[in-house]
Amino acid sequence: MRNKLSILTAALLACTASQISAAGNRQAERDLFAKIVEIPTVEGRTAEFGKLTTLLTAEFRKVGITNVVVKDHDGTQTLIARWPAAKPSGRKPILLMAHMDVVAAKESDWKYPPFKFREEGGWYLGRGANDNKAGLAGILIALQYLKAGGFQPTRDLIVLFTGDEETMGNGARRAATEWRALIDAEYGLNSDAGGGAVYKDGRPELFAMQIAEKTYADFKLTAVNRGGHSSAPRPDNAIYALSNALTALEAYRFPPMINDATRASIAMLAEKDGGQYGELLKRYLADPTDRETADLVEANDPGSTRTRCVATMLSGGHAPNALPQKAEANVNCRIFPGVKVDDVRQQLQALAGADVTVALVEGSQTPETAPTPIRQDVLDAYKAAVATRFPGAPVVPFQSAGATDGAFLRANGIPVYGFSGQWGIVGEPEGAHGLDERVYADGFHDQIPIWMDMLKRLAG
Ligand SMILES: [Zn+2]
Repeated sequence: MRNKLSILTAALLACTASQISAAGNRQAERDLFAKIVEIPTVEGRTAEFGKLTTLLTAEFRKVGITNVVVKDHDGTQTLIARWPAAKPSGRKPILLMAHMDVVAAKESDWKYPPFKFREEGGWYLGRGANDNKAGLAGILIALQYLKAGGFQPTRDLIVLFTGDEETMGNGARRAATEWRALIDAEYGLNSDAGGGAVYKDGRPELFAMQIAEKTYADFKLTAVNRGGHSSAPRPDNAIYALSNALTALEAYRFPPMINDATRASIAMLAEKDGGQYGELLKRYLADPTDRETADLVEANDPGSTRTRCVATMLSGGHAPNALPQKAEANVNCRIFPGVKVDDVRQQLQALAGADVTVALVEGSQTPETAPTPIRQDVLDAYKAAVATRFPGAPVVPFQSAGATDGAFLRANGIPVYGFSGQWGIVGEPEGAHGLDERVYADGFHDQIPIWMDMLKRLAG
């Protein structure tokens, strides 16, 4: 998934689009990006992953990055490339992350074929153009330029391109464990989270650094009943029991919580908003445990102040003229870092009552992870790299409402920072996971010199 700082991207001014020329060759960058987008690396299309890793391996080799390992696993592939330190400093490697897989796209629903790259009105269109092939291409091209330009890293740079971030996350899970020797690093920089939002007049709103992710988990709520003839209703009824459980869930709010990531993004918003909402946010920051204030913040910005669970699927009964023997609902939870998944299950069970059982859907859960502590050197390098293009642009830590590959690494002791120099336009949709996905062309090209600057600072 690719997750922008939604709370901070309220639509604003509309002026002229900025004209930016990135370092390097814009046409060549675009052509390589087009090739990458046009390979439909959707779950299950195993051969397409082979095509993409073949292309990427050749591109790395072109500039002399020859240590490239492609893992075949779980019906997909993961690519791991290593650029060894030219002047080793003894510091551990830095891991550069992106994912190769894209969410499926139903061609008939799109304005244009999703796997035909096109440029329109300053945007590059195609499935995966935003999530996350722009980031993938950005890392590849930045490393190509750095290598060809004679950059001598003082620590190894390792690339991790997974092939199932949108589905199973096995690439990141295996990388963090069984392939650990290949990817072990001081920290990861994940292009799948973070990045900038820029107003149409060219002023930067902010660049985000993801340091935390909520845990994803699905729960099944099940009511069973002996059933019977619908001409003889009884008080016990599986559908009513389940309905009551869902009504209790609808009304329930988990206790509000705050961490470094949510505090930083809410503080930034509070500072920018001189009105009532800014006042509300300041009140919340002064006492984040105050439920009433947190509820008001939550109404505006769902998920920012706590764990949220919501009913997403429903089924029940077996005939129109029979008492239901079974009713089931799926409840999807986005769990605040630091909260145990089983504690959430117990809370749901308490709400659901004795007639409904609540069970974790096996395999649905992403790892429970604490926020990554902010590293000043990474934050400073990010600010400085972004400032080469947008002087003074704020860089704000934030928490993703969803999960990325970063969770698997964090859970296994590798800090991960969502980092990207890529930017979009405030208020303009980008269609990640949805229709007519696109990336702002200038924002795409700008990430390349920003990546290069960042790596020079951290690995030079
Ligand atoms: Zn993604």
